[in-house]
Amino acid sequence: MLGFGKSDKNSDKKGKCKFIVVTGGVISGLGKGVITASIANVLQAHGYNVSAIKIDPYINIDAGTMRPTEHGEVWVTDDGGETDQDLGTYERFLGKSISKLNNITTGQVYQKVISMERNLDFGGKCVEVIPHIPEEIERRIKEVAEKEKLDFLLIEVGGTVGDYQNVLFLEAMRRMNLKGDPMVFVHVVYLPIPKSVGEMKTKPAQHSVRMLNEVGIQPHFIMARSEKPLDDVRKEKISIFCNVKPENVISNPDLEYVYELPLIYENQDFTENILRKFDIKYKKTDGLDNWRKFVNNIKTAEKKVKIAIVGKYFDIGDFTLEDSYVSVIEAIKHASGNKKVVPEIVWMDSKDFEKDENKLQKLNDIDGVIVPGGFGSTGIEGKILVAKYCRENNVPYLGLCLGLQIAVIEFARNVCGLEGSNSTEFDKNTKHPSVCILPDQVEKMKKSQYGGTMRLGGQDVKIVENTIAEKIYGKNLIRERFRHRFEINPELIENLKNKGLVFSGMTPDNKIMQIIELSEHIFFMGSQFHPEFTSRPINPNPLFTKFIESAIKISDSRSL
Ligand code: GLN
Repeated sequence: MLGFGKSDKNSDKKGKCKFIVVTGGVISGLGKGVITASIANVLQAHGYNVSAIKIDPYINIDAGTMRPTEHGEVWVTDDGGETDQDLGTYERFLGKSISKLNNITTGQVYQKVISMERNLDFGGKCVEVIPHIPEEIERRIKEVAEKEKLDFLLIEVGGTVGDYQNVLFLEAMRRMNLKGDPMVFVHVVYLPIPKSVGEMKTKPAQHSVRMLNEVGIQPHFIMARSEKPLDDVRKEKISIFCNVKPENVISNPDLEYVYELPLIYENQDFTENILRKFDIKYKKTDGLDNWRKFVNNIKTAEKKVKIAIVGKYFDIGDFTLEDSYVSVIEAIKHASGNKKVVPEIVWMDSKDFEKDENKLQKLNDIDGVIVPGGFGSTGIEGKILVAKYCRENNVPYLGLCLGLQIAVIEFARNVCGLEGSNSTEFDKNTKHPSVCILPDQVEKMKKSQYGGTMRLGGQDVKIVENTIAEKIYGKNLIRERFRHRFEINPELIENLKNKGLVFSGMTPDNKIMQIIELSEHIFFMGSQFHPEFTSRPINPNPLFTKFIESAIKISDSRSL
């Protein structure tokens, strides 16, 4: 990668952080997160220190208390934040950890301003929405830029222009620009192709730019999202009516693989054009080579592996919300891409198995099963049936957090003979608690409200010698991310061990078990942490890689 050596002509441009603001118009759900992450990715590939902020206009302080079916998956940062899933997209595209400070919500901003007012920090002034709210927004943004000594900071403003909710954030951006912070505005629009007309229409995009103009912002770039690539006629039209140079109207067609977007930008000279806006000279780089290789792998892979995800946050009205498990899906894609196979993901609702055990036959042609994280008792018995099926039939099983707890409950019941064993989360009065709240946590739970009692964020995990986990990770100390309350009951460990369950990872003080495995199985593992949060396209999580390798073996043996 290119760096900023002393002889670098651009070295004078270093020092002051440059801001790229990404706004959206016409409709929501345009993939602003992926667009923001892709812009960050190409700049990073050119040797710059880049990060991204997500602004969420809701009043919630963070995403921790939100239902996954409502807002998608809750992302967990290494520093213990429960944030919007866009931070996960940024981490995957940048290949680095991003702090919880990079997720700003209206709730956080108002909470801070109000508590400053109560502390007399405004020296008796009348505290107003303008200017004090935009000032606090700016302070938060600059805090991130300075802390990380960034060259570029992307700021994705959630929502759509014209919403009441994000107007103060846009005002903050306008003020920063006015005061001379180096800023470039990128506006993402949607170009519909109505069936009745059969032509790509630019009018909604023009209106949304006009709305942005009304709050004092003129975009420098237009990201044109559409089913199809943009043609020259549309480009010209958008350029003239939106007041943006034609070369700065960038085509963003629907993609089968979102990881291709940075390469599409590079092909349209976007990086060169955006650097020019900051008066920085563009140089060719090999920084995207590994990324290109990964994208090429996923695009050219042919062999399929069938992976079942057995969960419960699937249905919302008539739609299936895969967003609840986005990081799990992406982690599967990373591991599969690197092994040059195409993952075919099959969604299975665990409640179906409870109604009819015969439905377990559906697992016959599955190459690997993942039981992901979750809360509450719905569908638990169905998941336990699935874990039993996988254990007894040599089907690769990867349990993520709740998925580990399920495997332990199943093992306690059916191998150790502890009838009715359960987690106290699902059965407070179980005679044999295999998963429970540890005594020092009970106190914490009593005192604090829900949301504040979880074990959250990155923590060290000790890996035991001569285990599969050691082989997979290749080291004896790893760092992974947690989001849970319940743990394997320490009082049951000896019993479980004696019957063949291997504990291959634990807290560094040896007190709490964090990884389980079965030695006589093609792949049966569970982790109390969420390995999906540390998986990256060109650096997949080792647990997922080994799981996919095992699924490939199963699929190969089928075709013999
Ligand atoms: N509900 C379980 C716990 O709190 C598992 C949580 C999860 O899967 N993230 O421990």
